[in-house]
Amino acid sequence: MGEPASKIEVKNIKDIGLDEGVARLTPEKIETVVNDVIDNETGARLKVYVDTCVHCGLCSEACHYYLSNDKNPIFAPAAKVKQTLWEIVEKKGKVSPAFIRRAAELCYTECNLCRRCAMYCPFGIDVAYMMLIMRRICHKLGVTPQYIQDTAHSHSATMNQMWVKEDEWIDTLFWQEEEAGEEVENLRIPLEKEGADVMYSVIGPEPKFRAQLIYQAAVIMNAAGVDWTMPATPGWDNSDMAMYTGDNEMMARLKKEHFETAMRLKVKRIVMGECGHAFRSVYDMGNRALGWKMPPVEMVHALEFYYELFKADRIKIKHKFDKPVTLHDPCNVIRGRGLHEMARYVVNKTCATFIEMTPNREHNYCCCAGGGVINCGPPFRDKRVVSNRVKADQLSAVKKKGVEVCIAPCHNCHGGLEDIIHHYHLGLELKFLGDIIYEIMEKPE
Ligand code: SF4
Ligand code: SF4
Ligand code: SF4
Repeated sequence: MGEPASKIEVKNIKDIGLDEGVARLTPEKIETVVNDVIDNETGARLKVYVDTCVHCGLCSEACHYYLSNDKNPIFAPAAKVKQTLWEIVEKKGKVSPAFIRRAAELCYTECNLCRRCAMYCPFGIDVAYMMLIMRRICHKLGVTPQYIQDTAHSHSATMNQMWVKEDEWIDTLFWQEEEAGEEVENLRIPLEKEGADVMYSVIGPEPKFRAQLIYQAAVIMNAAGVDWTMPATPGWDNSDMAMYTGDNEMMARLKKEHFETAMRLKVKRIVMGECGHAFRSVYDMGNRALGWKMPPVEMVHALEFYYELFKADRIKIKHKFDKPVTLHDPCNVIRGRGLHEMARYVVNKTCATFIEMTPNREHNYCCCAGGGVINCGPPFRDKRVVSNRVKADQLSAVKKKGVEVCIAPCHNCHGGLEDIIHHYHLGLELKFLGDIIYEIMEKPE
């Protein structure tokens, strides 16, 4: 094995989805698709953003790609727009396949859609929105990185991210119920319970790779006396990689299935596991694509749910978690929903020593996995970890203060942080809030 990468070269990275997609393009096709998207799917928002940006560069220092790559100007947020959408709009779609190849790699793998830069722009210009429009164009041109496209195909074939078949889903829940039943007598994972207070939904990778999280959730629900259920049908997966490929039609189909499942079960609300992008898909993008400003069924992220349970004294702990911890603020539930103080309440309630990273809360740096970047797979891994040296610096600083565990209430953040911890030899443990709660709570006999 060679030395870990510490710098990235900006050149096209080989990817079948991008390379073969571009090989099929013609200038005419590009022009037609671009103008179709710009004329029919965008409006004043895009125009105002493109016309208002004065290229002042104030957003540059907000972006972890820019900071981590020695302030290379091509990674500045405004420069990302300049290299993609701005040029396309200016030229009314008259750009070459080679231009689209670079624009596609940039919009899918050099921006996490984390929206940190929007907070520092004096006009509030949302570069993430523009990268999403660029992805929409790429999707309609058939130029998408192979790995994330494969995940989007799984969504469309099975309505979940991981090709989990219906019987496998139910078997996994039975299996977790049986396991948890050995610890807590008579524990049930209720399936298809009409009228329950809560429908609990998870992301595809949970039954596939992290079934213990379903087990833990079942023990927490049981101990807190929650009236809950899980669906036995498709609609259980709240994740959404189609949202990130630019396949808005598929994103809407997925969210429709999810909400309709909750409506069929007549639950009062949906509580979802610890995932950031899934939350964005149900609370911001997917619901709006379907025409709902807010989700048609109340949606609560696990973090908010744990906060409520602790506030109402429905979870008792035996003792506080004793290893010093820090907290990574996932963009989609912190910048996207403002749950930062709730997260701190839960961490302080459950952990003896909590040391903050700097910056934190809505100013926190993204893990660099989000926005579907980690889902673009191994070809882009080095670029992703090298482009988040600032997160490694944040983690290293708290490690020097004694932190042993980083809590990240988001699946993608876990994936991204795991790679960063490994790549920069940080030697930190990663945990979900549910891991901590499960470990220290009083459990029914
Ligand atoms: S990665 Fe985040 S900060 Fe950087 S350009 Fe994208 S949205 Fe802005
Ligand atoms: S801060 Fe706003 S106006 Fe300035 S370059 Fe960035 S996006 Fe443009
Ligand atoms: S993976 Fe986590 S930190 Fe990264 S964009 Fe998503 S929520 Fe933000």
